[in-house]
Amino acid sequence: MVAPPRSAYLHIPFCHKRCFYCDFSIIPLGDSAQSPDSPGITSINSYLDLLHREISISPKGPALSTIYLGGGTPSLLKKNEVGDLLKNLQRKFGFQDGAEITMEVDPATFFENDLDGYIGIGINRFSLGAQAFDDSTLASIGRKHNRSQLIEACDWVNNLFKKGMLRSWSLDLIQNLPGLNLSKWIKELEQAVSTEAPHLSIYDLTIEPDTVFGRLHKKGKLNIPIDSESQKIDFETTRLLKSRGFARYEISSYSLPGHASRHNRMYWSGSGWWGFGMGATSAPWGERFSRPRTIAGYKKWLEQQESQTLEKTLSIEKSKSMPLDELLMIGLRRREGIHLEELAKNAGWTQKKCDKNLKSLEKFWLNSINEGFLLRHNGRYFLSDPKGMQISNQILIQMFLWWDSLDRDQ
Ligand code: SF4
Repeated sequence: MVAPPRSAYLHIPFCHKRCFYCDFSIIPLGDSAQSPDSPGITSINSYLDLLHREISISPKGPALSTIYLGGGTPSLLKKNEVGDLLKNLQRKFGFQDGAEITMEVDPATFFENDLDGYIGIGINRFSLGAQAFDDSTLASIGRKHNRSQLIEACDWVNNLFKKGMLRSWSLDLIQNLPGLNLSKWIKELEQAVSTEAPHLSIYDLTIEPDTVFGRLHKKGKLNIPIDSESQKIDFETTRLLKSRGFARYEISSYSLPGHASRHNRMYWSGSGWWGFGMGATSAPWGERFSRPRTIAGYKKWLEQQESQTLEKTLSIEKSKSMPLDELLMIGLRRREGIHLEELAKNAGWTQKKCDKNLKSLEKFWLNSINEGFLLRHNGRYFLSDPKGMQISNQILIQMFLWWDSLDRDQ
């Protein structure tokens, strides 16, 4: 069983509109959230009521050390709405001194004084959803903001950081977007570094079937970089960011010294976390649990939990630890990788079972080890950067083939 959770994720599902690549659990509001009694505002109010109710019926746990408000677009909430959510969480769990409290914010949804307001109610880290700087790229992926709004937003956040009002901040970019090539990407990266963000999250574009991009891709109309170009893009990301002092502490996360996200690191360490809200996943005791992805489904689920107690639902899996294949999958994303035997024992394996099965995983990984994609040191396995990180999926597939070959009853 994993240690009791010390982290919480709150899902704020509202967005202005759906970006072309996104299949998250969100509610697009359009321009319907402008005046106090408009449909968008009513929808936000009803959702916040559900979220507060879910926090209130959650089991108790130790004081939180990381809190993350993600979405969606949490910066569509007013500071008192965010403040009330934090107060409710604090009443339930308490916050540790120095807790990292991150809020995702999107350009074109806030002004500088809004950020001041969020800091005033306890936010100490912002994650700014840039995705791209180039205006035509931003338009082609369906983002609401443009380049000048993004640069202005970066300046506002960085000024607050330099004044010591934030412990850190992060910028998100997506690599391998349609129309991108190596020289355009280098400009994007240079621009990201010039914002002085001490943390960068660089995600690979994933094509999800039920999105605008999914449909275009199916028709062969999505001009994404071919494999050889995307490999060059990935190599250049690592090379350029390392040359500017960033460490790649996880496949998609780069930070200057002292700015790795504690909340991110919690996810990849296999620790448990609380999750609240429509579509949110939690894993308080190791096993993952996902809430319904629609507002109607979430409301119905919550009403059932209120009558039968959420504690019971979440505690059903209390005696199980996270399965070893999941621990391996998430642990391998980190720069420090995994200690195979330690993880297996954490997952409840006996020494006899380790001796019998772990050697055979090495056989599945042999080619990756020989090619230098997967490195070994004192029982610890980790992906080489960038070669191994770039083909992490292949190494995980080899691990899942091993997992399927096991007689797990023994
Ligand atoms: S802003 Fe973020 S969550 Fe909202 S639609 Fe775009 S990518 Fe999805």
